Amino acid sequence: MKWSKLLIQTLREDPGDAEIDSHRLMVRAGFVRKASGGLYTYLPLGMRVLNKVQRIVREEMDRAGAQEIVMPILQPSELWKTSGRWDSMGPGMFRLEDRGGHSFALSPTAEEMVTSLLGGIVNSYRQLPATVYQIQWKFRDEIRPRFGLMRSKEFLMKDAYSFDVSLDAADASYEAMFEAYKRIFERCGLKAYPVEADTGDIGGKFSHEFHVLADSGEDGIAFCEGCGYAANLEKASRKVSARSDAPCAEIEMVPTPGAKTIDEVSAFMGVPAAAFVKSLIYVADGKCVMVCVEGDRDVNEVKLRHFLGAKKVELADPAAVLAATGANAGSVGPVKPADSSLRIVCDLGLKGAKGCIAGANKDDHHIKNLDFDRDCNITEGDYADLVIVRDGDICATCGGKMTIRRGIEVGHVFKLGTKYTSAFKAVYKNDSLEDRVMVMGCYGIGVSRTMQAVIEQSHDANGIIWPSSVAPYQVCICLLDPDDPAAVEVAQSLESALEEKGIDVIVDDRAERPGVKFKDADLIGFPVRVVVGTRGLSSGGVEIKRRRDDKSATVTVPPAEAVEAIVSRLA
Ligand SMILES: [Zn+2]
Repeated sequence: MKWSKLLIQTLREDPGDAEIDSHRLMVRAGFVRKASGGLYTYLPLGMRVLNKVQRIVREEMDRAGAQEIVMPILQPSELWKTSGRWDSMGPGMFRLEDRGGHSFALSPTAEEMVTSLLGGIVNSYRQLPATVYQIQWKFRDEIRPRFGLMRSKEFLMKDAYSFDVSLDAADASYEAMFEAYKRIFERCGLKAYPVEADTGDIGGKFSHEFHVLADSGEDGIAFCEGCGYAANLEKASRKVSARSDAPCAEIEMVPTPGAKTIDEVSAFMGVPAAAFVKSLIYVADGKCVMVCVEGDRDVNEVKLRHFLGAKKVELADPAAVLAATGANAGSVGPVKPADSSLRIVCDLGLKGAKGCIAGANKDDHHIKNLDFDRDCNITEGDYADLVIVRDGDICATCGGKMTIRRGIEVGHVFKLGTKYTSAFKAVYKNDSLEDRVMVMGCYGIGVSRTMQAVIEQSHDANGIIWPSSVAPYQVCICLLDPDDPAAVEVAQSLESALEEKGIDVIVDDRAERPGVKFKDADLIGFPVRVVVGTRGLSSGGVEIKRRRDDKSATVTVPPAEAVEAIVSRLA
């Protein structure tokens, strides 16, 4: 392909809305162009990368036995009402009506449609297991689209769904997808880590997110170097250190005028935040509950919601706090709240805690020498893991220290159970001809997001560094003297010889200065650059350089040896 024939426009200026490198580079190098907030056009270079990522995804899905289908983007509301998600998806789902007044969603995902589909096709256990997938555009009404393709309103996603005869059988389908995902990301040149994720009602270890580590990532992940444990912060747990048995003095009330936050009271009393008890009033499905954690910790609301078995938890408003405890926020604590029936749940870190400081349930007062076992009325079963883990916490598996890293989620595998198949009565007949509900798994890969994640993980100050497998072109031949027939001849024969080997080649035949060509080639990030020019040919041959190597690794070889030298550098 000749550069001059392609719609490539590199930009000198960074886009104003780019907060992360991959977004900046992707736009500057001419892969995508913003059409509107959260909406992008894929230009020829971007389309080539997107197609290559899709090809890898397709090959690995097929290899794992999944069957490709494609379902409509426009999905009737009835499907979503059957699962209950027409309401629960909230304002993040795009909705519209046709001229007849029928309402539809622009698909953000397709569990409903695929379950309804398979329910109609599968009759017998003999047709199972079955895994289907599609690569289809998805939509989400982002409040604040940002980070380019990472958080856009429209994105390309591969979604797969497995159907099995039982929960046990579903494990094998899950494993097959898990392995396929590892291969997909590896083939895309990405280092992606499987991370345990929140499983909702299913429990167990059957939900993994695949994350690409990046400082710009939106998600926190707890890692243990010791045993390889990795979990996202919604799910990650820690080992709690044992508390001392030493007896503590009698409980005592202390005036703390004007000090509201833990930091303020901590400064006022000259005691570290960890000695405090943070007591918060939450409303869980309409009912107040007090949640206590160590003073320097934060409540994990996902864990709290699961522990309480609630659909929704949120912080109570000031009036509810006052009614439940007798004090305003900042003076609330677990000893004798005004509402004696108020349930108090505590993080395991407070089990057996002594000598703590907590709000006194009286404005501008705290209590000290609090002994949880002695002074509070908390049921044994109301101690649970309720906090967000942090850097330096102890790994529950091996006792090592955990670190918190940032990640970009590029994939998710999830054992769903029967949530959708029950709602849609998607049943099969077992060998006794009895109806049984199918067990489902769902598996997503953000295809457009993966493309950007590669850039986020692989770039330098000069631009993108594409892995060969998903590069728009693997080789860029910089033809420095497009008016010299001898140089043109060498460039052309090199181009054909490489293309015969299945290598994608672009020849920069523009009448530009060498410096401009090199800069553009580095910005776009072709894995191998070959320089063909009059002067070089007269003094030894063509120059070959890998994008990821520095200048000193450049080699000059005679044209006849160039193909071999290029191929070996792409391997
Ligand atoms: Zn560990």
